[in-house]
Amino acid sequence: MTTHTDPLDSVLETIGETPLVRVQASPDPVPVYAKLESFNPGASIKDRIGKYMLEQMLAEGTLPPGGTVIEPTAGNTGIGLAVAAGQLDVDAVFVVPERFSVEKQQLMRALGAEVINTPSEDGMKRAIDRAHELAEELDDAVVPQQFQNPLNAEAHYATTAPEVYDALDGEVGAIVAGCGTGGTLMGMAEYALEHDPDTRVVAVQPEGSMYDAFFDEEPEEGPYKTEGIGTHDPDTNVLFDPDLVDDLITVPDERTHEEMSRLAAEEGQLVASSAAANSLAARQVARDIRDGELDAPHDSVVTVFADSSERYLSKGVYRSFEEWEG
Ligand code: PMP
Repeated sequence: MTTHTDPLDSVLETIGETPLVRVQASPDPVPVYAKLESFNPGASIKDRIGKYMLEQMLAEGTLPPGGTVIEPTAGNTGIGLAVAAGQLDVDAVFVVPERFSVEKQQLMRALGAEVINTPSEDGMKRAIDRAHELAEELDDAVVPQQFQNPLNAEAHYATTAPEVYDALDGEVGAIVAGCGTGGTLMGMAEYALEHDPDTRVVAVQPEGSMYDAFFDEEPEEGPYKTEGIGTHDPDTNVLFDPDLVDDLITVPDERTHEEMSRLAAEEGQLVASSAAANSLAARQVARDIRDGELDAPHDSVVTVFADSSERYLSKGVYRSFEEWEG
């Protein structure tokens, strides 16, 4: 349950104010705290941007009342946008390459959205092009495009970060978050650095992802199973600003898989792979602060657990590493 205690009018009011819970395996003097984002009604962190982007676009007039939102997305963002669209009287259309999770597509449809499939072999690029073609055919449609839309990062600047700072009385030593679009980390980093410019900001990616390219390093591209974070095409990561980031931690899938099981078995945390990668990276940062290898203004580290493992059970997340389909 969320921390909301009064009766609420709409499911949109349950978005945000998620619990902040200590990772039990944190080093003693430097706790790691994780925002449990599966407590949102669409069960992921992307509910925040779904609600925030639509409300802002309606307020600014870029999306007309009763208009249509079209997004190329295979995952949590579609569900988050669909939850918000349904309650804000906006039509939602998602363009999804066929191979992506059937469960997520079913949830988008259940929420009232239309799902249009593009051939898997044409990749995400084709889905993006198709979304723009469809938007041009309608005169009341917009494509929010989370990879480019500053409202994505702004949602975390306006909600996720202040919730964390309130909960910890402003005493945050480091922010650690895996980057898909980079919206979560960028929004939280901007808030953190305004609060205290010495706050450590750490990006996380799976091994095989190419965020290294932003730090003038040669990325070693390869496949990875960790879902929701990482990039194969840094040119699409328009929101990611390396100037706000102190370090990039790369986590191999094997370790993420192990941590996912440990978090469930030892901590009662049914969280998915991006959360497990964040947990490992945040614990590393906490140990470095404890050992004096890293300077941080406070002895605490904050990360996010973006969604629940239940969304990926059919992919075998809790089976052996080899059986995990990713
Ligand atoms: N974890 C999961 C499960 C996600 O779906 C996403 C979004 N792709 C992220 C983490 C990363 O969030 P962001 O896009 O804000 O970097």
